[in-house]
This record gives sequence, C-alpha cells and structure tokens, in this order.
Amino acid sequence: MVVEIEQWAQPPDGRRAFRGGVLSSGHRVHDALVGGPDPVPTDSRNPVAYFRHPSEAGTCRCGCGEAVPGGEWAQGHDQRPLHGVVNDDFGGSVGRFLDWYETNKTSAEV
Ligand SMILES: [Zn+2]
Repeated sequence: MVVEIEQWAQPPDGRRAFRGGVLSSGHRVHDALVGGPDPVPTDSRNPVAYFRHPSEAGTCRCGCGEAVPGGEWAQGHDQRPLHGVVNDDFGGSVGRFLDWYETNKTSAEV
C-alpha cells in the first residue's frame, strides 16, 4: 500500500498524525513501488516507512544539488552548517551551544 501524505498534524498527546489518500493502481508512484523491492531498506521491524518518492524529491539545502528523497539534507550534509554556527557563534564549543539551547529552546520551538 502507498499513501500520499497531504497534511501532518500534531495531536495534543504529542504523537504525530497525518491525513492522506491511498494511491491506486495507475498512479505513477503506486505502480513504481507496489510489488517491488522495499524502497527504504531498514533494520526496523516496523513495516511502515515514511519517505518522499524520488520523483518528488527536493535538493539538499547545502546547495550541493544532490536529490534528497526524504528530508532537507543529503546524509551528513547538515553537519557543516550546524558546526558553522557552533564555530561562529559559540567559539567552537558544542557545550556552550547546548547550554544556550537549553536556556532558549522554548522560544526556539516552532
Ligand atoms: Zn548537500
């Protein structure tokens, strides 16, 4: 089964939920995935996987141009900007950054 997620929600209990539609035979993503190999190999026992189909992938936020099927960053490409912030604003100290985060995270949460 393939479900196209149309909207994410966060119920008051803290879990995440989504609203979407089950794709039918004839939809290009359904036909590309159903009956084929697992498109998201994982060691998890959970038979459900969430990912963005490569045909709908965006590109990595670092600007490298790599397609990102399930997020904003290619694997490992988020480290450079994160450590850039730590280096530029916290003198390279991860501890200072974490102390600042703990103090300010309420206002930083979206
Ligand atoms: Zn990148």
